[in-house]
Amino acid sequence: MGTSSFLELGAVEGPELEQLLARARAKRDAYWGSIATYSRKVFIPLTNLCRDSCGYCTFVKQPGESGAGYLSPEEVLRTASRGEELGCKEALFSLGEKPELRYPQARNMLASLGYRSTIDYVIAMCELVISKTSLIPHVNAGTMSRDELNRVKEVSGSAGLMLENVSRRLMGKGMPHHACPDKVPLQRLRTLDAAGEASLPMTTGILIGIGETWDERIHSLQSIVDIHNRHGHIQEVIVQNFRAKRGTAMANHREPDITDMLRTLAIARLMLPTEISVQAPPNLNEAFERYLDAGINDWGGVSPLTADHINPECAWPAVGEIASRTKQKGMSLVERLTTYPLYLRQPERYLRPVPAAALRRLAREDGYAANQAHAEAS
Ligand code: SF4
Repeated sequence: MGTSSFLELGAVEGPELEQLLARARAKRDAYWGSIATYSRKVFIPLTNLCRDSCGYCTFVKQPGESGAGYLSPEEVLRTASRGEELGCKEALFSLGEKPELRYPQARNMLASLGYRSTIDYVIAMCELVISKTSLIPHVNAGTMSRDELNRVKEVSGSAGLMLENVSRRLMGKGMPHHACPDKVPLQRLRTLDAAGEASLPMTTGILIGIGETWDERIHSLQSIVDIHNRHGHIQEVIVQNFRAKRGTAMANHREPDITDMLRTLAIARLMLPTEISVQAPPNLNEAFERYLDAGINDWGGVSPLTADHINPECAWPAVGEIASRTKQKGMSLVERLTTYPLYLRQPERYLRPVPAAALRRLAREDGYAANQAHAEAS
């Protein structure tokens, strides 16, 4: 099917939707089999300062607000070490974008830590974690240059940048990405392309229900397909549903329903090359097991320790709960590492020596985690 036929499926429901879901499942099963994966991780919100102000964000804080700032190296290491004790393999660094370019207070905080930029600090903290613990960093630090991505690659197994949507319309006045310089779609596409040039395994994805049209969703997925076709480095695509959060500009905005989510997941599975993992977060919908009906094969990072700092009001289901709902759908839960097996098998291209060695210590022969922590615990 070409892009134009996907453009016509924005309102598909009933038996037609069931057929679409069945095709998506068949494509998933043929490549991924009957396993659904997750990555056992800790969340390290290195800074909650950000120069952007997305209309749906509850993560970000302004300088001077209580709790605004950077984590110290001691705090980073404490969280990573505790995660290691609980069987985690991934340290997810997730943070606001370049706050030092907007706030003198952020520059001062960085200077007192001994750094000039947030990305320098992220890289140093990844180095700390990968040298002092068995955890592998995965870096979500926003838009980056190729040079920065190459430095990230030295100390991490993968990185992430949600494309969210390619529509510039969403940056207009009253729209979710108004006055967000890092949400300019071209900047995000450039980062994803630069990561491809650096051969850094990447996670990206779309955020649905923020005011985009169906066509804009399809064009966003097509842009991801095009980037992957150029470089082959997109290891997973997240389809994330918008949740309206109290205290944000979009508190009263309608949330996408489960039908919309299933339809979009199925289309993502059908549009994307089969080797790209399709993921949906299990903490943003009560009936998350239904996503498996739409052809997903991954639940993303799940933490036994830290909250979802991006969606703090939505607790993660326990790993045991995810395992049992996955089983109800005839699939089994398998713990993966932050770098997918396909990329682990090509270390000379996709991995630098330090993360390659650390990943080798954690992986079993098929590239998934040697120690399946949830199975050990049950
Ligand atoms: S969603 Fe990300 S980029 Fe947007 S304001 Fe929040 S932290 Fe910043």
